[in-house]
Amino acid sequence: MESPRPLPRVHGVHRVDCVVIGAGVVGATITQQLARRGVRVALIDSAPGIGGGCSYANAAIVAPHHVTPLATPALLREAPVQMLRRPPAVRMQADPSLVPWAGSLVASAAPRRAHLAGERLSKLAAESTRLHCGLADEGLSPTLRKTGAIDVYLRPPRRRHAELLSFERLQAIEPSLAPVAAGAHDTEEWTLESRSFVKAMLDDASSRGADVFFGTSAQRLLTEHGRVVGVAAEGMTLLADHVVLAAGLGSATLAAQVGVNLPLRGGRGYVIDVAAGDHAPTLPVRIKEHRVVVTPLADRVRVCGAIEFGDERRPMDPGRAEALKTVAARVLPGLEGAAVIDRWAGERPCTPDGVPVIGRSTKVGNLSVATGHGMWGMVLAPVTARMITEAVVDGAEPADDAWLGPDRYDGRRTGYDRALSTT
Ligand SMILES: Cc1cc2nc3c(=O)[nH]c(=O)nc-3n(C[C@H](O)[C@H](O)[C@H](O)COP(=O)(O)OP(=O)(O)OC[C@H]3O[C@@H](n4cnc5c(N)ncnc54)[C@H](O)[C@@H]3O)c2cc1C
Repeated sequence: MESPRPLPRVHGVHRVDCVVIGAGVVGATITQQLARRGVRVALIDSAPGIGGGCSYANAAIVAPHHVTPLATPALLREAPVQMLRRPPAVRMQADPSLVPWAGSLVASAAPRRAHLAGERLSKLAAESTRLHCGLADEGLSPTLRKTGAIDVYLRPPRRRHAELLSFERLQAIEPSLAPVAAGAHDTEEWTLESRSFVKAMLDDASSRGADVFFGTSAQRLLTEHGRVVGVAAEGMTLLADHVVLAAGLGSATLAAQVGVNLPLRGGRGYVIDVAAGDHAPTLPVRIKEHRVVVTPLADRVRVCGAIEFGDERRPMDPGRAEALKTVAARVLPGLEGAAVIDRWAGERPCTPDGVPVIGRSTKVGNLSVATGHGMWGMVLAPVTARMITEAVVDGAEPADDAWLGPDRYDGRRTGYDRALSTT
């Protein structure tokens, strides 16, 4: 882990306009946007440096056309097949605490609801991608590259796909490919390395006066008369007019302290980084049957995949990461024998309705929440930051996106359904 610059730990009581909890891609982008709007903001993160949570590593892809809710009819259809695959792309531990969460995920996969959520999420992803490009144009996102990506099928896909390409056409696009049955090429995709993105956001925020404190765990949200007034953190108390909870999976414990129920579970994914040799791919390759993604980055090739639900404290199984590399080498033989640089497993913060939580709480004044982005936190970070900044600075109610608000798990679920179908 690396820190943008070492900051002295300040003890005592401090007053700022806004405290952001969590320096992953989501919290870092929110901090940058707030600082840009002239808000005096303090960002705290319990980790010693960048990458304490899920934003340590990911597939590094900004693919707006692929952003869908986790809960879809396709998930219900495909999950059993993916569980039986070798290596399994989906796993669910026999953990009784997962049952209500999984039941809610299945209910949320009802076709009409999934369709509406999918349409709205697609719009947010398109807008967010435009914002990513804007950040890059300003020199604030040094690793964003428009690369396109290809999807490959080892066997002819059962569902017809209008834009399927032959192996020969695919190989003309990506020469390092071994024979596959078919594939597709999406030119509207970008790669972006998450830690460098977080660092760029924090550097810009700091240059605009934001204070960034690593090694500073938020322990308690402070409230008075139903409003949040600050955060008691390790070694300091931060008093603020507004608090933004963007602590990934860690958001649930803090939200519960003020009566906001965020039923988040970790969807574990694995990453294995290998040295980029002469035969590294030139653009991301997704191996569709196995849900494995191979992404070339500046100094390495990243292979990642799998989604597993279970006890988030279980140790990482390095064999799972190695198995992904074996799958990748079947399609990209240049990866066979490539030296391993890093292995990692991260918990995607996942909601039971499969869409993120973004917005201001109606229950607790001056608390905003930005978490639960699951598989798509990096794509959606800029649009999330814009929505939260508007809530903090302008007091704006996100009329079109009220369905994403943090109070939707209040036991009745009516807010989510009503907002989803009527706004
Ligand atoms: C294998 C894999 C591949 C992926 N591929 C992609 C992809 O290609 N594109 C994409 O868009 N997304 C992808 N994702 C998802 C994406 O990485 C996540 O959605 C995103 O990183 C979540 O960011 P976050 O800021 O919400 O949470 P995190 O990155 O988890 O950040 C939360 C931060 O909060 C801190 N924190 C927690 N509790 C406290 C506390 N009490 N006090 C202070 N700080 C606290 C943590 O230390 C952490 O730094 C992938 C994920 C995985 C695992």
